[in-house]
Order: sequence, then structure tokens, then C-alpha cells
Amino acid sequence: MQSRPTTTAEGRRYRPVTSRNIHKTAFWEKLDPEIREAVSVVSQVLPFRSNEYVVEELIDWSNIPHDPIFQLTFPQPGMLAPDVYRRMRRLMEQGDKGALESAVREVRLSLNPHPAGQLTHNVPKLNGRPLPGLQHKYDETVLFFPARGQTCHAYCTYCFRWAQFVDLPEMQFQATESKDLAAYLKVHPEVSDVLVTGGDPLIMKTRVLRNYLEPLLTDELAHVSNIRIGSKSPAYWPQRFVTDDDADDLLRFFEEIVATGRHVALMAHYSHPVELSTPMAQEAVRRIRNTGAQIRAQGPCIRHVNDDSDAWAKLWREAVALGIVPYYMFVERDTGARSYFELPLVRVYEIFRDAYSQVTGLARTVRGPSMSAFPGKVRVLGVSEIRGEKVFVLDMLQGRKSEWVRRPFYAKFDPRATWLDQLRPAFAERFFFQEEPQALRMVGAA
Ligand SMILES: *Cc1c(COP(=O)(O)O)cnc(C)c1O
Ligand code: SF4
Repeated sequence: MQSRPTTTAEGRRYRPVTSRNIHKTAFWEKLDPEIREAVSVVSQVLPFRSNEYVVEELIDWSNIPHDPIFQLTFPQPGMLAPDVYRRMRRLMEQGDKGALESAVREVRLSLNPHPAGQLTHNVPKLNGRPLPGLQHKYDETVLFFPARGQTCHAYCTYCFRWAQFVDLPEMQFQATESKDLAAYLKVHPEVSDVLVTGGDPLIMKTRVLRNYLEPLLTDELAHVSNIRIGSKSPAYWPQRFVTDDDADDLLRFFEEIVATGRHVALMAHYSHPVELSTPMAQEAVRRIRNTGAQIRAQGPCIRHVNDDSDAWAKLWREAVALGIVPYYMFVERDTGARSYFELPLVRVYEIFRDAYSQVTGLARTVRGPSMSAFPGKVRVLGVSEIRGEKVFVLDMLQGRKSEWVRRPFYAKFDPRATWLDQLRPAFAERFFFQEEPQALRMVGAA
């Protein structure tokens, strides 16, 4: 695991809180023994990392274990199946390192570390050579995973990229430089967007980020008009934009990209309105927006964290007031500790609708609830009754094939279904996008 501590303007290092040093924190002794045990046991398998800001300013320690940010960043007993949990605990007690390591590995592999065919189906090629650290699933957008941006200021317990943070090297996909990306973009004029993602690319020093992105800002790549950066820093470490020693450099760099005539979009991962409540978080938003960059808010709807329509309505309302554009609400993905965090699709849809109906039209730019599944981003439009049959109405906001987008389709209503693969088509043998299995593999290949 790479963990490069950031220095603040005062030269003070921020301290990550991990399973190694948590025993020394002020709150450790106050935690319930059951929670302390869960932190030790679960963090063997799934990555754990928090930091001083999250711990001191976002978590309400009088509301443990229910506090949403505590659930968001601290391992919870329910995150492993009871038998797996007991097995891990027993192996830890026995102290046989080898046995523990191989069990950890086995459990990790059982948790679907790379959902939606990320490794096998979206890797683009240049002259027949696969390009590591790139993904090209939807025509207009290429995802770029810089090697130095594959960690975060804190880890979400529900993280869908968790496999990037643990020691499964053959499972990580990351690029060490952007030469391949620039060469690929040169022969792909259909690409208008590069989405730099991780982890959190803003864990990188500005100097490093610059090295990656400057090669994309040439006239030759004028078709790449939108530079997007996926980041949780505005929520987990807003100091990145305010007091870090290279905070101002980062903002100047955003300004420089904007001056080339490009749109800079910070795709900010917000999970809960408390993340927008601190003066530091609000100052970060003001400073980013002053550069001409736009901030768009997105995040998944998660049991124990934000399965609450009032919380979403508040998040979108406060986002709009600060000039942030609400963008996506996602469905918890089919990986990691999903059984603890997932919600039935119908429940997520109700939360979305209830929140959406409470907010100004300015916040109704948000779309969802959306599943980032193999064929595309599938949205639950609603529940309806057609010819006496109760159905889910769905469509795609993004599709492996662009002609799949915004074509409504139907699935049999299932009150327990939590993901697309559990849905069965209504009024048809197959979903329309299942009729061209061969074509699936071609999209994204050069
Ligand atoms: C969501 C996503 C994008 C970006 O989609 P937009 O709808 O343009 O925000 C690009 N690639 C992948 C793989 C995605 O999941
Ligand atoms: S910010 Fe994103 S990549 Fe980082 S831990 Fe959270 S979900 Fe995972």
C-alpha cells in the first residue's frame, strides 16, 4: 500500500489513522470492545485508513456506531460473513502468519475484487499492445489511472476499488506515465473526456499531477476538451485545496487548463451532507470554483451511511448553494462488503425519488439511481404496472454501445433484487442488450 503523507502549509504532516496506529488514538479506549475487535479482524481483509480531519471533524463520537462517517470509514463487524469473521479471528489468535495470509487472500478473491469486467473487457490497445492503466468503455470518455494516484486520504468501507489498495499486485491496473494515453488519444478523435481516477488522483503532489496531464493539453489533442478528475479530497481532506503546501499550485494548474479552453470538472465523491458542513470544506469549494473549474457531486446510496432521503436532499441543496452541480446517485456495487452495505433497488429508488422531489430544479441535474454494470450505467427509472404485471422500468445513461442509451426496458419486479444480474426480463426472453454478445467485446478495442 502506498501512503505518502501530505504536508500542510505549516509543514505539519497529517497523520493517517490505520490499523497500525489506531491503538494510540484518543478515541480507541472509548470504543466498544466489539468494535475494536472488528477493526482488527476486518482490516486484515479489507483496507482501513482514516485521518485526523475525518476523525476529529466529521465523526460525531457521541453517536457510535451509527454515525454515518464512522460507518463510512471504520471497519464494521458485519462487513465479513459471520463464518469468515470467526475464521479470521481464530487464525489471528493462533498467530500462524502463513495460514492467515493465505486465508486473507482466499477471502479477498471471493469478494469479486474487479466488478463489471474492469480488467478483462475495457483495456484499450494501441497497435495491438494493451495499455495498462487505461479503460475505454464509453466512446467519449477514457479513464486514466495514474500509478501514483491509487490511494486515498481515507478509505470508504464500501469502496469498489478496494482491490487497488491491498496487496494483490496482479490485480492492480495503473499507468506509470501518460505517453501511452496521449498516443492513444491522438488516434481516437471521438474521445472528448479524460477522466483521471484512482483511488484519488489528488493524493498526488501537484508536480506529479502536472507531469501526467500536461502532455494532454496540446493543440493536437484539442478534441480532448474536458479534463475530469475523480476525487474524494473535497470531502476527506479539503486542506488539499486550502493549506497543503502545494494547494495554491494545484489551483494555478486548474486555471492553466481552463486557459487552454478546456473544461476542468472535479468529479467529487460526496457521501453525506456533513462532508460539506465544515468551514474547511466550504473554503475548498470556493477556491476550486474560483479557478473556473466546475465541481460535480456523485456518490453511492449505502445502507448504514446514507440510506436516508433527507440526507440526500440536504446534500444536494447545500451542494447547489455552494455552486456544486449534483450529478449521479449510484447503487452500491457488487464487490467487497456488499452484503453489509447493499440496499434493494426498490429502496434506493424510493430514497432517490423522495430526495429529488424535495429539491429545487437546480439540484435535479442529479441522475440515478444508477448501476455501473457490465453493459453500462443502468438507471432505475421507476416501478410500474403494465398489463397487470409489476415491473421495474430501466434505461441506460451510458452503454457499451451508444445506441443502447435511453431506451426504456422492463424487468420483473423483485423487492429483494440489489443488482442488475438479479433482474429477469419482463415481456421478453432477454434484455435487448443481451442479443449481441459478440459485439460487447469490440467496444473499447483500438
Ligand atoms: C461513469 C463512467 C464514465 C463517465 O460517464 P459520464 O456519464 O460521462 O459521467 C466513463 N467511464 C466509465 C467506465 C464510467 O463508469
Ligand atoms: S474515495 Fe473512492 S476510491 Fe477512495 S476509498 Fe472511497 S470509494 Fe474507494
